[in-house]
Amino acid sequence: MGQGEIEVMNPVSGDVLARVPDSTPEQVCMAVERARSAQAAWTALDDKARAQAVRRWGDELWRSRDALMNTIRQETGKNETGALLEVIVLDNILDYYAHYAPKILRPKTRRALFPVLQRVRVYYRPHGVVGIISPWNYPYLLALIDAAPALAAGNAVVIKPSEITPLSALAAVEAAYRVGIPRDVIQVVTGGGATGAALVDYVDCIEVTGSTATGRKVAQRAGERLIPAGLELGGKDPLIVLEDVDIDVAASAALQGATENAGQVCISTERIYVVDAVYDRFVARLVDYAQRLVMGSGNGLGVHVGSMTNERELLRCEAQIADAVEKGARVLFGGKRRPDLGPLFLEPAVLVDVNHTMEVMREETFGPLIPVMRVKDAEEAIRWANDGAYGLSGAVFTRDLKRGERLARQIASGDVSVNRTQFGIATPSLPMGGSGASGLGRRNGPEGLLRFVQSHAVLIDRGWLNRPGLLTLLDPGLYRAFKALRVLRRWIPWLRASV
Ligand code: NAD
Repeated sequence: MGQGEIEVMNPVSGDVLARVPDSTPEQVCMAVERARSAQAAWTALDDKARAQAVRRWGDELWRSRDALMNTIRQETGKNETGALLEVIVLDNILDYYAHYAPKILRPKTRRALFPVLQRVRVYYRPHGVVGIISPWNYPYLLALIDAAPALAAGNAVVIKPSEITPLSALAAVEAAYRVGIPRDVIQVVTGGGATGAALVDYVDCIEVTGSTATGRKVAQRAGERLIPAGLELGGKDPLIVLEDVDIDVAASAALQGATENAGQVCISTERIYVVDAVYDRFVARLVDYAQRLVMGSGNGLGVHVGSMTNERELLRCEAQIADAVEKGARVLFGGKRRPDLGPLFLEPAVLVDVNHTMEVMREETFGPLIPVMRVKDAEEAIRWANDGAYGLSGAVFTRDLKRGERLARQIASGDVSVNRTQFGIATPSLPMGGSGASGLGRRNGPEGLLRFVQSHAVLIDRGWLNRPGLLTLLDPGLYRAFKALRVLRRWIPWLRASV
């Protein structure tokens, strides 16, 4: 390996796929400067022209999906379903912003404090250069999911993908160039943590998807520089099973939620709380379905679980299983490595007799562990679901949709689904993000675009009450007007400044 280079490996075969530069802070600075120069012309295009460019990019990515999926799978070891999901979810999000960005960015007229005398409008201004730092678990989706709205809003973008999986982002950005998005408007700088840290030093807004530890460091530096920071961090998502469920639906959905991408998902199902009345039946079905999972590196949507990408996470899963067993948990199925399939294959593990003294119920798990805890009722389930540092996503399974929605609203996280897992991030209109150790800010939906602009408020006073020589902001006449307004707007709501 040359100096200043990073080797990208296939985690299944161990082959070196490529070598990419380990960019220095100077190279990052130059990339950001190029982006800054190009941003002025990009933002001068009207909102519709930028949205059309996002649409062309989305279409080109869709046309290139087979090659992109191959790259994703090569550098992560994930199954075909996982790679296809990345492509589909991003495609929907690009379509959403291509369609709605001009509407979301349209200047908004609001009612002024003194209607008729004054007019007020809110415009939106891009931050300038947005830096995006992304992780390895969804190397394509998570490098681009925020790039699309940032570009649509008129920013230039510099992406620093994970050093473990930089190739998907590089390939996706090439597709942007093919449809005419200028090279300096969207760039990729490859490198490790130091390259990411350098990006935070130069950009005007930073968006990081990664671990809570990295999020804290990025937030600290962003705080020093007073730039906006979006932090999409780890999770420990609960799934609650109530007594009225279809057990087969709930058990298979729980497995989907826990084993997608071999469990290496920020919003994977990591803790299952099942009410006493259906606990035994649920666990029996869960084990039965787990036994039917197909693992391997073969092609086709029939392979349910692929390789893990990162040995560090596999070791952490094994340590969590050992910690749980030592504290009294039982492994009913799985939890063993499958070296016959590849070095990083781990069988999904169903654990019971778990409690909140165990790491597997408190620390993030980035692998296919499925701990199931018996609870008395829904209230107890909610208490445990809210017992922890993270607050990213969650799920409630019940046939009573009203009750499900009521309980969903009691889970302290960015999003909760009833009778589904992981569909929140795939729904472009829904904001997605976390609270507590899961981060700050929301992606997707109008919120996911407005995070990349500053509102720019303009007030126009017709000057009818201006008087030459008036040397105070508040003269007796204006004071009388304020007092009159205060009374009148109780009766005439129209007089109130609008939202
Ligand atoms: P990580 O924190 O190790 O790395 C993420 C990115 O940050 C990488 O590109 C890395 O090079 C960069 N980085 C590392 N140190 C940095 C620093 N000091 N300054 C700036 N950048 C730095 O995370 P990972 O192992 O790549 O990804 C797994 C984590 O990501 C998990 O915790 C997972 O839950 C989280 N994640 C969150 C979401 C979400 O939407 N909330 C989505 C996917 C993954």
